This record gives sequence, structure tokens and C-alpha cells, in this order.
Amino acid sequence: MDPLLSTAARLADGYLQGLPARPVPPSAAAVEQLRLLDAPLPEQPQDPLAVLHQLDALGSPATAASAGGRFFGFVIGGSLPVALAANWLATAWDQNAALHGPTPGVAAFEHAALRWLLDLLGLPAGTAGAFVTGATQANLCGLAAARHAVLRRAGWDVEADGLFGAPPITVVVGAEAHPTLFKSLGVLGLGRSRVVKVPTDAQGRMRADRLPPLQGPTILCLQAGNVNTGAFDPLAALCERGREAGAWVHVDGAFGLWAAASPALRHLAEGLALADSWATDAHKWLNVPYDSGLAFVRDEHSLRAAMSVTAAYLPVHATARSPSDYTPELSRRARGVDIWAALASLGRQGVAEMVERCCRHARRFADGLRAAGHEVLNDVVLNQVLVGFGPPEATRRTIAALQEDGTCWCGVTEWQGRTAMRISVSSWATTDDDVEASLAAMLRAAAGLQRTG
Ligand SMILES: *Cc1c(COP(=O)(O)O)cnc(C)c1O
Repeated sequence: MDPLLSTAARLADGYLQGLPARPVPPSAAAVEQLRLLDAPLPEQPQDPLAVLHQLDALGSPATAASAGGRFFGFVIGGSLPVALAANWLATAWDQNAALHGPTPGVAAFEHAALRWLLDLLGLPAGTAGAFVTGATQANLCGLAAARHAVLRRAGWDVEADGLFGAPPITVVVGAEAHPTLFKSLGVLGLGRSRVVKVPTDAQGRMRADRLPPLQGPTILCLQAGNVNTGAFDPLAALCERGREAGAWVHVDGAFGLWAAASPALRHLAEGLALADSWATDAHKWLNVPYDSGLAFVRDEHSLRAAMSVTAAYLPVHATARSPSDYTPELSRRARGVDIWAALASLGRQGVAEMVERCCRHARRFADGLRAAGHEVLNDVVLNQVLVGFGPPEATRRTIAALQEDGTCWCGVTEWQGRTAMRISVSSWATTDDDVEASLAAMLRAAAGLQRTG
């Protein structure tokens, strides 16, 4: 075996084995060491094995232990060992997943993963999909398909003629839409600010009673999983309204879409399948390595029209799906392989259990913090917990003390005028012990106590 690969595997294994015992943030010393990177480009070739050891010595200690079980800042997930291993193997294959012809193997794995995903998430059979880098890009794909469809109905070919002189599109979003959705709207020429914002309720859900009358070319952007509270927009009612008006309904479900994979949580996503397009991440709650997101579009033609490299109106070949007809990229790694491996290994039950386990952990955090007299700001319906430790300054101080302690990592958020600590539980690796140790650290930080053991 190539000593480089066996060494990399050994170092990676050692790294992962060491995570439970180390503080979650990198030490100041490890970050300080990174100044050694400020070196000139070597003139001569270096020994590859020495380069790998250098990378490990300098890089591994400077990581946040987000692959472990006690990182709760942002919804980011970890990597299931099987997905990481599949990622390595697929990287060794070095296939360009752009076309079906030269690389039928990875195209077939991606197609199979797509079929499983539609089944798992309860999306309409025949929905088209794209394996992209993350939910930002997935939102972009869904909105590009939407832009195509609503303008085509108005007699305008946006791919050929662009937006100059096109009929205006009304874009409706919730007041608490994710910031990246606005970025995608900006990139597509739909405008970050040129949107109608619908007020949200006390959990951050779009208020169906405040939806304006919809007419003309319209894209209605809904959210499954508010990044602060985990709350879902009332999808069924809003999808109905969108459909009646002939609007295109897009759902950003970067992490929340996975609730649809759980019988216990599916009710949150009721009405989901009535939408026209959906964006989600696999690198968050499915726990595959970065970077991995998914776009789903009910009308295959609209996604192909927006993304196809060649003519937008080529017939769809059911037997030979060329991935690059659906994605912004041409050349691309076969990220669907990691997803296939995760789904094959977990099965329907395993995915549901992983999602439900994270939600159980979130409830335990909320209960433990509440029992100690701290204020939980949101209804903990999913995996997100917002907690306040008194006035904003006290909350900030507590978070700083917690980060200093290093047992776990949480960040600060501003939500509906409140300063809060945000706890996101989305890693397969988080155990009951991780939650208890982290909860104890939070309570210590709030009480102004130092770590004892
Ligand atoms: C994380 C997130 C995004 C952006 O996803 P990336 O994978 O970081 O591109 C979009 N919307 C929501 C609701 C998110 O949680």
C-alpha cells in the first residue's frame, strides 16, 4: 500500500480518536503556530510524506473539533464514518461526475441516491435533483428553475434573453429567511432587497394571514427550519395560496427538510410536497463530509432549462441522466457517492433515529437550562435551542466563558431583538454523555464558575 495513503488513514483515525478528550476550540498556541505557513514557496520538490506530517502537525491541532460530539455552534453536523470512508474511495476514483457517458458508475450511484432521497423525504416521484456544494447553491438552483418557469409562462425566455426588459417577478420571502437566500436572489438578478417581506410570528414562522395577494409572475420562498428556532413556516397553507395564484413555491429546508424523514417529526413539514422546489444540505443533518447540498425541482424541464450546458430544450433521457444538466458546475466531484453510502448504511430507520436523537438532545439541553432558572426563548420543536442568561451583556459573558472552558462550543445570536446563545444539535457523534458534560459546562459558565476537573 502506498505509505502516503496508509499514513493519511492512520493520522485521520488518530485525529478522530483524540476528539473526545480535547477541548472543542483549537488552543491559542495551535492557532499561533499557523504563522509558520507564512513561508516562501519551496523551490525544490519536498518529500510527500514529510509534507503530510507537516500538515498534520500544523493543521490538526488548529481545527475546531466539529467532527466530534460537542460542537453546537451553527447547524453543521459531523461526518458518519461510512460517509467519510466513501468520500475517500470516491476521491481515489477521481471521477468527473459531469457526464454520464465517460463516468457511468458515479452517475448511477448519484441517480440511485436521488431516488432514495425523494422516497425518504416524501417528495414527488420524478422530481429532478442536483448534487451541489450546499444549501446556498441549492437555493440558487431552485430559484433559477423558478425564474425560468414563471417567465416562460409570461412568454419570456430568461436563459436566452436575460432579465433586461423581462416582465417583473414578485419575490415573496419571510422576514426571517436565511441570509444566504438573499444572496442567491442577488446573484440571479432578482435583487436582495427587491423582495416583499412577510412578517413572522413569535417563533419566526411566516404569518399566512399576512401574505399579500399574489398575482403575475411570483416566486414564494418558504422555510422549513428557522436557523434560530427550528420552526417551520405553515407550509400546507402557504403552498395552497401559492398554487392558487400560479406562483412558484420554493422551500429552503437546509436542515429542516430532514424532519420529513422521521415519523415523529414529519408533522412539522406537512404540505412540503406541494411546493415546486426544495433546497437542503447533506453536510448538515445527513452527516456527510463537506461540501454537499441538494436541490430538488418538481418540474425537471425548468431545472434543465436553467442549468443545462447545451440547448435548454433537449429531450430528457431517462436512462442516462447527465448530472451537469442539473447543476451550476460542469466538472464536479461525485458528492452523491457519500450520500449514497450514508443512506445505504443508515437505512430509513437509521436516518430517522439520527434526526430524532439530535432533537431529544436539544430537548434535554432546554430542560436542563430551564430547570436551572435560565430562559429558553423558543419552542424546542426540532434541534435548535435559544437560551438567554439575563441581560445581553451577561449572555455574551456566559458564551465567552463557555468558549474559554472548551468542553463544548456554542455561539451568540440576535433574534427578535434578543441576544441569545444558540445550541444546534445535528451531529451523529453527539452522545448522552456529551450532552450532560456540555450542559454542566453551560451551567458553570452561567454561574461564573471555573472548570474543576
Ligand atoms: C445553513 C443554511 C443555509 C446555507 O447552507 P450552506 O450549506 O452553508 O450553503 C441556508 N438556509 C438555511 C436555513 C441554513 O440553515
